[in-house]
Amino acid sequence: MSNFDYDLFVIGGGSGGVRAGRLAAELGAKVAIAEEYRVGGTCVIRGCVPKKLLVYGSRYSSAFADARNFGWTSDSLRFDWPTLIGNVRREVDRLNGVYTRTLEKAGVRIILDRAVLDDPHTVRLANGDAPISAKTILVATGGHPMIPKLPGSEHLISSNECFQLEELPASIAIVGAGYIGMEFASIFAGLGVQVTVIHRGDQVLRNFDADLRDGLAEAMRKRGIDIRINTETAGIEKVDGGYRVHFKRGDSLHAGLVMAATGRLPNTMGLGLDEAGVDLGWNGHVVVDEFSRSSVGNIYAVGDVTDRVNLTPVAIHEATAFAETVFNDQATPVDHMMIPTAVFSDPEIGTVGLSEESAREMGHVVDIYKIVFRPLRYTLAGRDEKMLMKLVVDMASDKVLGCHILGPDAAEIVQMAAIALKMGATKVQFDMTMALHPSAAEELVTLRHKWEAPTPMAGSDAAA
Ligand code: FAD
Ligand code: NDP
Repeated sequence: MSNFDYDLFVIGGGSGGVRAGRLAAELGAKVAIAEEYRVGGTCVIRGCVPKKLLVYGSRYSSAFADARNFGWTSDSLRFDWPTLIGNVRREVDRLNGVYTRTLEKAGVRIILDRAVLDDPHTVRLANGDAPISAKTILVATGGHPMIPKLPGSEHLISSNECFQLEELPASIAIVGAGYIGMEFASIFAGLGVQVTVIHRGDQVLRNFDADLRDGLAEAMRKRGIDIRINTETAGIEKVDGGYRVHFKRGDSLHAGLVMAATGRLPNTMGLGLDEAGVDLGWNGHVVVDEFSRSSVGNIYAVGDVTDRVNLTPVAIHEATAFAETVFNDQATPVDHMMIPTAVFSDPEIGTVGLSEESAREMGHVVDIYKIVFRPLRYTLAGRDEKMLMKLVVDMASDKVLGCHILGPDAAEIVQMAAIALKMGATKVQFDMTMALHPSAAEELVTLRHKWEAPTPMAGSDAAA
């Protein structure tokens, strides 16, 4: 019989916390979970899900434009932001209810309050209730937007506020060209907002394959997005009708709104972790081992707060492994290799495995197979935009180390390719796979020639 109030206390009801809490309860543990904002966390409330719904909404403008050559015309189309954002918020509310009921059904006690640690086994709630003790603590507090310290940074909005906008601005300047910068630039541009991306580096999406980075920047510029590279922001000034963004080199631009998409920081401030003896890393993340155990034996952490790979499926995977390890007697280390990921920009990126650059840096001698072609749909639509598919292949073993796609449905295609790469598929095995025609994905199994010189534009007849 335990002397603790709970077997497990989870701090944070997001992707990682909800999964861990539910699984532990289903395995027979007595579980409580504290959530200071809304059950569901970043992904469900103000991340992946509402973002993807906005992505869908924003893509209708190009779909309608493409539809003309397919015989469809309509002169009365217009876009209404309150309708879209209202429906997105309703869906978020529904999902918040689904997540809450899932926990309740599993027997987890939900405490809608902020929780902090008093000591390694004691949690204190902000409402002043009596402290709660638990044998195991799981920190799953996620992260928050990092707002750069600049004169006028109080004027910056983050992705959080994008879901609260009551009306769209005529123009927006987005500082940062990572996942959020690229996705929201595409969303706003698709909805008719004039978008400028301000990036301090020399190309968007650091650490992605160079062909994806170059291809996406070129396509977004063609779609009317002004991407300014090597541009450092000096400050933001409130002026009539919006804001003036000043650059360090002396020039400036006017925008109706200015958004920071400059990364996220782990939520560990004031959590009592330091005091409990938990080691924190350079940016405040909880340092954990392969079982997500911190430097204090009974305190574990999963998800963004550990700043390993900050994606929802990774948080969920880590949470599942934690529950197996601690509550099912199955020591389950987390495998962070070959994680597929997408940038839901327009066009979209899907990628898994090593970029060409990182493969070479790691000492692999690689063959590159790639094709740049116009998808069939775009030929009739008259859209001058190419799709890119690229395989990075280890010359010695013939294993496919990386698969990189830019273009329609890239995320959906790469999710499936990730299974093959995870299994260690070779290029020969890709070649042995029968193509599915006509599709864009068939290009992945018909890449016959090593990339040496620019391929002539293959067009819809690439499979001929
Ligand atoms: P979270 O989901 O952030 O949950 C942490 C929870 O803890 C929060 O609800 C918070 O309120 C709560 N909390 C914090 N401190 C306390 C406390 N002291 N007491 C009580 N509660 C507390 N990932 C993808 O894989 N695909 C995507 O398309 C994608 N899109 C994204 C879009 C945006 C705009 C953003 C910001 C992120 C996106 N992500 C995406 C990343 C993804 O949302 C995160 O990786 C994921 O939510 C991490 O889950 P988590 O459980 O670690 O943290
Ligand atoms: P990212 O790390 O992806 O990108 C941050 C961007 O901001 C980079 O361009 C970076 O430039 C720039 N930057 C960082 N600090 C500063 C600064 N002080 N001044 C100016 N520019 C700066 O972070 P995001 O905020 O875009 O997203 C956070 C995380 O959320 C992602 O890394 C990802 O894990 C997750 N996410 C996942 C999504 C998905 O799966 N589709 C979608 C959205 C978020 P530089 O490259 O020079 O460092």
